[in-house]
Amino acid sequence: MPESHMQGSRPGPVVPPSKTHGHGRTCDLPGCETELSVYNPSARCWQHAELTFPVYRGKRLHPKTA
Ligand SMILES: [Zn+2]
Repeated sequence: MPESHMQGSRPGPVVPPSKTHGHGRTCDLPGCETELSVYNPSARCWQHAELTFPVYRGKRLHPKTA
């Protein structure tokens, strides 16, 4: 296959790195020393972060939290 028919990345500016949120942060919850991922925007670890559920079509899946 001729190379001109291939699609792919081309030389150019280097893609900026993903946004990160700092190294060495730990979970905000007292007693939890889980180190947060630099990709975790929350102040808590995944286990203790407040889960947010997407609202589909306006229906509330969890009425108690409304
Ligand atoms: Zn935690």
